[in-house]
This record gives sequence, structure tokens and C-alpha cells, in this order.
Amino acid sequence: MNNTLDEFKEELETCFGTSCGFCERGCPVYQTMKVKTLCMKGRNRTMLGLLQGKFDITPAVVQAAFECTLCGNCDRWCSLKNTEHTRAFREYLLKHGYEPMKEHASLAASLKNYGNPWFQPRSARNKWTKGLNIPKAAPGAQDVLFFAGCTSAVMKPLVPSLVAGAKLLQRAGVRFATLGQDEPCCGSTLLRVGQTEAYEDIAKKNVERFEALGVKRIVTACPGCYTTLKKSLQDHGSKIEVVHITKEIADLVRSGKLKVKRSTERMTYHDPCHLGRLGGVFEEPRDILRAIAPLAEMPNHGMESRCCGAGAGLQSAFPKLSRDLAAKRIAEATSTGATTLVTCCPFCETQLRTVPGIKVADLMELLLSSVENGEKGNDRPAPGKT
Ligand code: SF4
Ligand code: SF4
Repeated sequence: MNNTLDEFKEELETCFGTSCGFCERGCPVYQTMKVKTLCMKGRNRTMLGLLQGKFDITPAVVQAAFECTLCGNCDRWCSLKNTEHTRAFREYLLKHGYEPMKEHASLAASLKNYGNPWFQPRSARNKWTKGLNIPKAAPGAQDVLFFAGCTSAVMKPLVPSLVAGAKLLQRAGVRFATLGQDEPCCGSTLLRVGQTEAYEDIAKKNVERFEALGVKRIVTACPGCYTTLKKSLQDHGSKIEVVHITKEIADLVRSGKLKVKRSTERMTYHDPCHLGRLGGVFEEPRDILRAIAPLAEMPNHGMESRCCGAGAGLQSAFPKLSRDLAAKRIAEATSTGATTLVTCCPFCETQLRTVPGIKVADLMELLLSSVENGEKGNDRPAPGKT
């Protein structure tokens, strides 16, 4: 469940007493802005000062709460639950009468009216399934539910990734259903921008719905849906398993059910925060990519990966900073000598494409084209480290 800011007071005091500053080194926002209140050491002090009644909520305090991607890098260096502090800080501000940032308010309004944060009609949600012959989920009729997620389903440039993922599962003989036009939002956006009660309402309804359908496993295409649904199900004591599609597909590549034609083109991989550091999935996407092409790692990868700048409402509320973070990531990718930067998150993909310098590709689309080539008579070499 989601703790309130008051419940983190002891942790904030620990940080104040320690003041070690280890969290500064990997924080993409702090390393870009060099403003002390924008790393966790400073933000924790701000939260503590507020709880102690030492100052009021000012525009600078609000900035300290929202100028963070919730990427989790600070938790890498610290035993405190820093990203949870920041989420609770946002909730605290909203509960104390601070109006949500107008960009975040509009995302929430869209979710209420359309069931997605992007002002797209509900009918747009199911367009990606056209011609794929995927059954609609019904009580007791399926074990596996494919969860597309709002962003990929309604944003046209991202639809090919969903289609590729579904086709790969079908080729490998995995039977699954979708919720079609009725697929709900996972609630990730609301949770990250501090609208905790609205998220909890969505989470409860989602879990009840999945349970009523008798689903055993949910395969998500989006890393944000992956961590959010996992949390929702755990918080409600559900035993339904959630996996990201890269886990499902990596197993099929490793077992040879999907035959891949390997390219000699050097590629690098960007770990989406929600899949890697926050979701613990590092090797599966790499195993898939290594089967497709030689992998050249960026200096900051795996647990050390740096956020693309799209997360937790930063892209909509602080576009300049968000783009600066993306530019840093693109510079890292080009430094590897790779020709293609591969990722598997609709937010990272969209964000990284805003900066020129390297081709950005989606892992599922890349794999589907490699599999189609592989079917033309090439053997798949065993995935190996490169
Ligand atoms: S957040 Fe953690 S790492 Fe950063 S100063 Fe506080 S105790 Fe140290
Ligand atoms: S979550 Fe990421 S951006 Fe936010 S303070 Fe921690 S390291 Fe910095």
C-alpha cells in the first residue's frame, strides 16, 4: 500500500542525520541542474522541514517535488525508499490544497473521460488488434491476458510494437486474449503525479476484473504497466502473475521456438527505468537483442542506467529538462559506436526519438523482422555475450 509522507518522517530524519549525498552521483536531474534541492538529499530536507512546520509550500517547494523522474537511481545508493518519499511528497502537496500542475491535471481529466491520458476516444484503444484475430477475454476462457497499455494502444507510431509483440506470441503458439476496447488504464500516471486516491480506485477495480476473468498471467507490453499492475495485484493479495513481454519472448528465443536471423550491425540497449531498476528485468531484453545483433553497452547500463527523461510527468511539466536528459542518453548511445539504440518502452522510445543522433528501434519490431528473415532459411545462433 502507499505510505503517506508523515509515515516516512523517520526516514527523512535519518537522511538529515546522515547527509551522505551518495544519491547525488546517479541522479540525472541533479547532474544536469546542479541544484541541491533537486536531489534526494535536498528533497528529503525540504519534506522534513514541511512536516516540522518550518516553512510553507512555495513555488520552489513544488518544483522540488515535481522536478524528478522517479527513476529510482537514488534508491540504488541508499537504503531509504526515496522514490516513494517523492511520490508521497506530491500526494501531500495535493492534499494540502496545491492544485496539480496544469499538464498533470489534463492527463488525469483525459483518463477520467477517455480511459487513457492522451485524449483519444475509447474506440481507439482496440484499433491495433485489427486483423490479428485475438480473442476478447471472457470469464474462465483464458489463462494469459495481453495488456497493451494506453500509450502504445492509442498512439499510432507505437502501434507496430504491439502488433509485433502479439505476432511473436502467436507464432510461438502462446494462446492469449485481450480486453479489447474495454482495457482499462493501469493507473501508473496517476500514481506518479501524486493522485494516489484516484490510482487506488483504478487499481482495486482492475484487480477485481482480472480475478473475475480467471486470468493466471498478465503479459504487459509497457514497463510502466508492468510495475504498476504488479504493485496493484500484490497490494490486493492477488496471486495473478505479471510478466513483461520481454520475459515471455526471451524464453521463446532461448528455446528456439522463434528462429532469429542475426545481423552484424552493432546495437546498444537502453534499460527503461520501470523495467530495469524498478522492475528487475535486465537480462531478458539483452538476451533477445544478443540473438539479433552484437550488443555494445553504454557506460551507464543495467542498474546504473540513466533515465531518458520521460518519466513521472517530467516530460509534460518540464519539457526543456526532459529533453536535456534525453540528449545526454543519446550522447551515451552514440559513444558506443552502435548504429541503433534499442529499447522496449513506449515512453522511452518516443522520448529518445526527439533527439537526433542515432536510429531508435523497438525491440519487438526488431525481433519480428529478424524472425521473418530467419524463416527464410537461416539458423538462429545461440544467444551469446558480445
Ligand atoms: S537520500 Fe540517502 S544517499 Fe542521499 S543523502 Fe539521504 S541518506 Fe544519503
Ligand atoms: S528518482 Fe531519479 S530523478 Fe528523482 S531524485 Fe532519484 S535519482 Fe533523481
